[in-house]
Amino acid sequence: MLSLNAGTITAAYIAATILFILALGGLSNQETARRGNWYGITGMAIALLATIFGVVTKNYGLLLGALLIGATIGLLLARRVQMTQMPELVAILHSLVGAAAVFVGFASFMDPNSSYTGVEKTIHNIEIYIGILIGAVTFSGSVIAFGKLSGRIGGSPMLLPARHWLNLLLLLGAIWFGREFVIQAAAGGGMQPLIIMTVLALLFGIHMVMAIGGADMPVVVSMLNSYSGWAASATGFMLSNDLLIVTGALVGSSGAILSYIMCRAMNRKFLNVIAGGFGTGGGTSASGGEQDGEIVSVNPDETASMLAGAKEVMIIPGYGMAVAQAQHTVYEITKALRAKKVNVRFGIHPVAGRMPGHMNVLLAEAKVPYDIVYEMDEINDDFPDVDVSVVIGANDIVNPSAQDEPDSPIAGMPVLECWKGKTTIVLKRSMATGYAGVQNPLFFKENTRMLFGDAKETLDQVLKDLT
Ligand code: NDP
Repeated sequence: MLSLNAGTITAAYIAATILFILALGGLSNQETARRGNWYGITGMAIALLATIFGVVTKNYGLLLGALLIGATIGLLLARRVQMTQMPELVAILHSLVGAAAVFVGFASFMDPNSSYTGVEKTIHNIEIYIGILIGAVTFSGSVIAFGKLSGRIGGSPMLLPARHWLNLLLLLGAIWFGREFVIQAAAGGGMQPLIIMTVLALLFGIHMVMAIGGADMPVVVSMLNSYSGWAASATGFMLSNDLLIVTGALVGSSGAILSYIMCRAMNRKFLNVIAGGFGTGGGTSASGGEQDGEIVSVNPDETASMLAGAKEVMIIPGYGMAVAQAQHTVYEITKALRAKKVNVRFGIHPVAGRMPGHMNVLLAEAKVPYDIVYEMDEINDDFPDVDVSVVIGANDIVNPSAQDEPDSPIAGMPVLECWKGKTTIVLKRSMATGYAGVQNPLFFKENTRMLFGDAKETLDQVLKDLT
């Protein structure tokens, strides 16, 4: 088997690191995202080749088998998964990083060939302990996040009495058993405190994510993304692999920055989200609450004439557009309207859909030009000048109760203020609530019209009527 020398491996690792940094830079903008992905793929290929031919010295049969199984599962998942299932796929993949960190931790603790002694051994044991701790929290937290995102577990937060005390107890327990582990491991033992801590960490992960309410899930997903990075980094320390340390730190810190950005977008304090309890549904507007006003529905034909008669149109896509896969029709309608000299813009809420950038990805797929796609902050003040806003399968992100009802579970979350425009047309199938499970007073406003039905079907009809 080909074997690389230490210098070549280091050079390959540095090249991979640079490519990963370029990948992150590229992914920060939709125009450069494709290039960013290629940097990432190339970096990962270099990293894998350097590790397989430089670092691994035996058990190639086992490695090949694992690679084949892993690659096949990855390929099948990537081909089969629907865009709407992407967030839960990401969550379950995070859980694998966590599980890997736990297994690597136990394997390195039990490694009979370990040559560490004295202080080095203590440091290595601390690395193992921290790696397993972060890995276990990431694993169980991500499994619960997967359950919540895929609807297998209810979205409302589970609030145990004295939950903050419980968290504190689990944290103190982890510290106490850490001390026990280091002392016992120096004397040749330590397995028992390590296992107890792993169980505590698993419980902590479950409790942490169960306590987070519907609308705050985006922050949790990005936070678990960050944890998975730190878990990988800790694995790098255990295996003395510099590339894994750096890559893990890149994922960890970019995930932490994303969590911060998401918190700002949701007007939440990061620590409050982690401590849990948002989205409790105890407010006056919890699902099914009484609403003033009447529902006025329109048909596709009326929608088409309202759109054709408008000068300024704002399209607000949400999760329902992803479900209906209506983005291509939306773009066809946009082209038809622009041909009629109607100014069409898109307003994107930072947490629209079920993952960061969800709407941007769909619109890019449909080839909507980037220069008519705006972030919420850029266009929220423009609504008074908008003739028709078209809300396509969005709900929570256009809910005025976030501003008007301090008791609402989504209170304080910035929303797209479409009701300030002349007319709003909302496309959805029923009066069902959105992800946060709260009723939306927008639907009952005087200047709102409801276009009921699957967004793709109704929009196809609107397009026919327009052309
Ligand atoms: P919502 O989930 O609030 O609303 C989506 C609406 O789409 C529903 O009310 C549903 O109504 C409608 N819908 C579903 N399918 C269709 C269809 N085929 N045709 C037409 N309408 C359809 O989505 P938003 O995008 O407004 O808000 C996102 C929510 O998800 C926020 O609460 C956010 O916090 C949360 N979230 C976001 C994540 C992110 O990273 N972006 C991650 C996790 C959660 P009906 O059933 O009546 O059709």
